Amino acid sequence: MDSFLYDTKTKCPVCGREFTYTKVRMSHLRIREIRKDLYTKYEGIEPFFYDPIVCPNCGYAALNESFNNITEESKKEVLSKITTNWTKRKFSGERTPKKALESYLLSLYCSEIKNDKDIIFAKTCLRISWIYDILGDTANKIKFLKISLDKYEKAYEGNDSFEGEIQLIYLIGELNKILGNRDEALKWFNKVINHPLRSNYSMIVDFARDEWQSLKI
Ligand SMILES: [Zn+2]
Repeated sequence: MDSFLYDTKTKCPVCGREFTYTKVRMSHLRIREIRKDLYTKYEGIEPFFYDPIVCPNCGYAALNESFNNITEESKKEVLSKITTNWTKRKFSGERTPKKALESYLLSLYCSEIKNDKDIIFAKTCLRISWIYDILGDTANKIKFLKISLDKYEKAYEGNDSFEGEIQLIYLIGELNKILGNRDEALKWFNKVINHPLRSNYSMIVDFARDEWQSLKI
């Protein structure tokens, strides 16, 4: 296996069976580039491919941070909507872009069943759009960017100020910019530049200034 990867075990909260999944040794990674949409390019691996944990036995999937968050009612729904049609297959080991996409789409479907928070949907859909970008599928890339933007806006509206808010505001600006909504993008970049916590987030504020200027030219 790739030296960046290692296997670990967990118990599925839906079917109760133990399985092996693959994690990334983050300490071994070297950053090559951080793009304006905050996609981070590392040397030799795409660590975000490995975030969704997928149970190979029943098909339940979720981002690492929310894998164990599931109600009894949602477990029953996963069993009836996914497991009954599920063909057992492997998700551990190295993930190709297609395997990563399959993991994220399953995770998204489970988020719908679980009625997850908007921020989980936003994050999942942004990453799905990155994978479609890697696969050269522009129509789906744009489709998932739009869903992600809508969910980030809902996540922002649904909260008072919170840790990481500035990053969320910045992403709303950036996704608007990519989607060609210039005035909206400017409005959100301005919020970043004037945010009370701006001194703690110098990279994000620099990005917002660059993007604001690029739209003003
Ligand atoms: Zn399972």
